Order: sequence, then structure tokens, then C-alpha cells
Amino acid sequence: MLQDKDRVFTNIYGMHDRTLAGAKSRGHWDGTGNLVGLGRDRIIEIVKASGLRGRGGAGFPTGLKWSFMPREGDGRPSYLVVNADESEPGTCKDREILRHDPHTLIEGCLIASFAMGAHVCYIYIRGEYIREREALQAAVDECYDNGLLGRNAARSGWDFDLYLTHGAGAYICGEETALLESLEGKKGMPRMKPPFPAGAGLYGCPTTVNNVESIAVVPTILRRGAAWFAGFGRPNNSGTKLFAISGHVNTPCVVEEEMSIPFDVLIDRHCGGIRGGWDNLKAVIPGGSSVPCLPAGLMRKDALMDFDWLREQHSGLGTAAVIVLDQSTDIIKAIWRLSAFYKHESCGQCTPCREGTGWMMRVMDRLVKGTAEIEEIDMLLDVTKQVEGHTICALGDAAAWPIQGLIRHFRDEIEDRITHRRGTTIAAE
Ligand code: SF4
Repeated sequence: MLQDKDRVFTNIYGMHDRTLAGAKSRGHWDGTGNLVGLGRDRIIEIVKASGLRGRGGAGFPTGLKWSFMPREGDGRPSYLVVNADESEPGTCKDREILRHDPHTLIEGCLIASFAMGAHVCYIYIRGEYIREREALQAAVDECYDNGLLGRNAARSGWDFDLYLTHGAGAYICGEETALLESLEGKKGMPRMKPPFPAGAGLYGCPTTVNNVESIAVVPTILRRGAAWFAGFGRPNNSGTKLFAISGHVNTPCVVEEEMSIPFDVLIDRHCGGIRGGWDNLKAVIPGGSSVPCLPAGLMRKDALMDFDWLREQHSGLGTAAVIVLDQSTDIIKAIWRLSAFYKHESCGQCTPCREGTGWMMRVMDRLVKGTAEIEEIDMLLDVTKQVEGHTICALGDAAAWPIQGLIRHFRDEIEDRITHRRGTTIAAE
């Protein structure tokens, strides 16, 4: 179990003072100038050695991502952009950092920007996060007032400006290139890659887009060392992680734990168990709405909450937003609801996503009612494969995967519903 002394986020529940004075009393902003003094190469080396993988869903190694930024300037500025557009259904971990522990993020922005040669960082925050934005802006203002941002920020010798900008509620703006478009004042539509943001990102300049949690843990990693962070979790799945657990547990919560924590330990220790007991568990969506669900049989014992174990089960850790579904759930309807979400949020740029999300949602609707034909189950599966991997951004995959998980694990239930419906219709005739 993660001990309090090893928590990166010491005010995640807002029980303590979130002002600069409070943050300093908990060890943040302590010798930040010295951390910057480690130098660009050393900071990237430590982040790489810590094994930190992106906390926004894709799990790409953070230090490696930073190393893609150009070493020598060609006259263009470099930018760090923090993705605080947390909009994936079930995901609510970054908001706790933004509203209760904002200084972890701001300090991380300074250090990470320095490591990438950026004098300017933008935080793009979800439009609905109004109180979170106010809390973060208040913390930014405090930092400017106290010399932690601006010229010679935190006496590091690095000039650094930090700006907050907020979205208008489109899920797709959480996709990094759509976010950059939106930041530039255009419609939030994903860009074709390449070029990747490290080559041509914000305003055509080298840019790295990182998740809030990925940046907020960096100062603590530098203070306590790469080996400390890498000591949690299994190899290749290092560190501590914020898990956001919702659904049919007794006490839903956001909690910082070790990576690779067994699922049953996570639920029993922090959520008071499954509602109605473990026999009442039906399925788990382990990483936010876009990853395939897993049935109770797989999750009850020996299930590890990390990138690799969940990938081996054909699902994913994603944002570590764990949605627990008990036996009262109509799993077909639950996945239909996600299909409706992705159809609504498709930006419409590419045909497989624009047409496919609507098509999939309509078939899902018939599966919920039991009015589809049995053959349509395989037809639907086939369409998800045609959407998956054939679109500009990952929203196509996100729409396809939940349906694939449903058919993989709950085909019997879908067939039963169709058969039962047919039986009752014939009986009525
Ligand atoms: Fe837009 Fe969907 Fe294509 Fe992404 S996959 S660019 S959301 S149409």
C-alpha cells in the first residue's frame, strides 16, 4: 500500500491550504531553481530513468517525448502545452490536481518547459472546469507575485511565462492536435500526423503536449530521485498513479496508489468493496470510457492495474478511470450510451468516424432493444474493425473498442436478448 510519505499529491482532497504558503509547507517550490540547475539533459535523463509514462491515456514514455524537442533553435520558439481538457467519461483525476494541488502542476510546468527549451507554456483547461480554472489562475497569480513565474522564474535564471486558456466543451479538443488548433483560435479539429507537434505544433513551432498529472509529478521525481519513483509498480509500469474509481462501488473516489496494484486490493482498500459484494460484480471498464470492458471473471483475482497487464487482456489502463458495473447493469445499454457519446463528439472530418460512429450507435440501439438480427453482431464487429485504425485521430478507435469489448465478453447476453425478443414477438402473434 502506498504510504503517505510517498504521495506526490498531498492535498488531493482539498483538506489543507492550497495557497502558495500551504504548498510550500508541504515541500513544493523547495529549491526549484536548483532543480532547473540540473540542466536540460540531466532532467530528461532522470525523467526517462524514472519510467514515467504519460498519464493522459496513451502511456508514451514522458522523458522520451521530451527528447524529441529540437536541441538547437532555428529561430522558432518552443512551447509546452498542458492538456487539462479532461473530458473522457469516468475521468476526473486531473481536476483534483487543478483545484486542490495546483502548485504541483505549476512547478512542473516551469521545470518541464526548461527541459524542452520553452519559455512559454499554455495550460488548456476544459471549459466546464470553471472553479478549477479559478483555483489554478489564483495559484498562477500568486506565483507571479512571488517571483516564481516571469523573469528569472524561481531564481532559476530561466524566463518563463504561463498562460491559462479554456475550451468550450468539445471532447475532441482533448486530442493533442485538435487542442493546438483550438488554442490557435480555430475549430478544434485534429491534424494529420506527420508533422508531429515536436516538429511543427503550436503556431507551427516545436511543441510538446503533456497531461496534467504527467507534468505535476515531475518536481517530486527530481527531488526524490528516479529510483524512488521507479520502485513502485512492475517494470515498465512505474510510479504512483491517480486512480478515479466510479460506478457500483460503495465509496467512489480518486486515490493515489502504486501502479500495478491488484484490482481487488484497490477496490476493497479505497472504495469499500463492490456494491452488494464481489459476487455482484459484472464488468469493469478499467481506463476510461474508450477502453474495452472486462468481465468479472477476469477482474476478480490477480488483475493488475497497469498498462501491460490490461493490454494483455485486450483492454487498457488509459487514464486509470475505473468504471465498475454490477449485476444490475444493462451492459448492452451502457455501451450503447458510450457509442452515442462518441457519435456526438466526432468532429466529422473523416468518413469512417463520421459515418461509422452513427452507424454503430444505431445498430447498438437495436441490440439494446433486441430487434437486430443475430448476424448483425458480426457485421457490427466487422464495422468496428473498419473504423479502428483508419481515422485521423484516436476517436475512431475510442468508438470501436467498447463495442469490441462488449461483443468479446457478452455476446451471449446480446444473442439472448435477440432470441428472447423474437420468442415473445412470435408468441404475441
Ligand atoms: Fe474527427 Fe473522428 Fe476523424 Fe478524429 S477520427 S479527426 S474525431 S472524424
